[in-house]
Amino acid sequence: MSGLGELYQQLIIDHNRHPRNAGALEDANRFASGDNPLCGDKIKLYLRVANDVIEEVRFEGSGCAISQASASLMTTAVRGKSSADAMRLFKAFHGMVTSPPDAAPNAPALGKLAAFAGVRTFPARVKCANLAWHTLRAALQGEPQAVSTE
Ligand code: ZN
Repeated sequence: MSGLGELYQQLIIDHNRHPRNAGALEDANRFASGDNPLCGDKIKLYLRVANDVIEEVRFEGSGCAISQASASLMTTAVRGKSSADAMRLFKAFHGMVTSPPDAAPNAPALGKLAAFAGVRTFPARVKCANLAWHTLRAALQGEPQAVSTE
């Protein structure tokens, strides 16, 4: 494994063990829950959006390391962004994890999120990585009912 790959793996392990922005958000005005039944991953996502900017974002979740680290990194990536910018990031992330394993990730746009490029070689894990992002989209679109990756 390359040095960069190891660095990315460390990032995923760290975010799984010490998730950022974990917990409920009392004054959330957007909410969605997501479910990946294939793996048993669950995410509850709380947002406070004002003037179309994601001011605060928190999550509660359980499941595999990929799903929880992805939720943690997603919250750090979208805080302070407009919903349109967050959706652009969603598209870039989704495009990366569903691209062929040998395609170069769009790293400048994705930053640390490029850590999840490795899931492309494990197709069953793509849904784990995408769960938090699908849940984010549902919350921003005002669809609080559970999204499922099925
Ligand atoms: Zn999973």
